[in-house]
Amino acid sequence: MPRLYLLLGGNLGDRVLYLQQARAGIAKRIGILERSSSLYETAAWGNTEQPAFLNQVLEVQTELSPEQVLQDINMLEQELGRVRLEHWGARVIDIDILFYDDLVLQTQRLTIPHPQLHLRRFTLLPLAELAPELVHPVLGKSISTLLVDCPDELEVREFGAGSFDAS
Ligand code: ADP
Ligand code: MG
Repeated sequence: MPRLYLLLGGNLGDRVLYLQQARAGIAKRIGILERSSSLYETAAWGNTEQPAFLNQVLEVQTELSPEQVLQDINMLEQELGRVRLEHWGARVIDIDILFYDDLVLQTQRLTIPHPQLHLRRFTLLPLAELAPELVHPVLGKSISTLLVDCPDELEVREFGAGSFDAS
């Protein structure tokens, strides 16, 4: 079964709860949730008025195609956003596809691997926790090497490590 890496992120409302609901939705719609990274907190870029983000990377075994995964994560984002905070314009959860096995794909709707992943410490750090040896199929470097090379200076710190249910 293809192995998928997803990045969850949110900076509105009960961030921990939204991540948990996203994991539950992913397990229900997309596939088997094999592993979850710790949660990591990152200060919102530039705009200090914005609350900090929480991020988490998930490893999922799926039988869905990349396009089906994108459709399902879009539905899930909408569902969580609508149900919880319908009066807010912003989304409470963002779900991005980082890798789908070693597939390289570029269409109008979907770029895999995620085009920003090697530029963002808040993505590389949780990913390195799960898959430090994983080699980026375009850049030809491991996640741990990409992390060392990453120019992103935004501080990312572990948030409540170990105290969250992976399911
Ligand atoms: P962002 O993730 O940059 O904050 P959105 O979540 O609104 O922005 O995503 C915008 C669009 O990015 C999605 O509708 C989707 O079609 C496209 N997209 C391209 N590649 C990916 C990917 N690897 N994972 C998730 N979305 C992607
Ligand atoms: Mg997104």
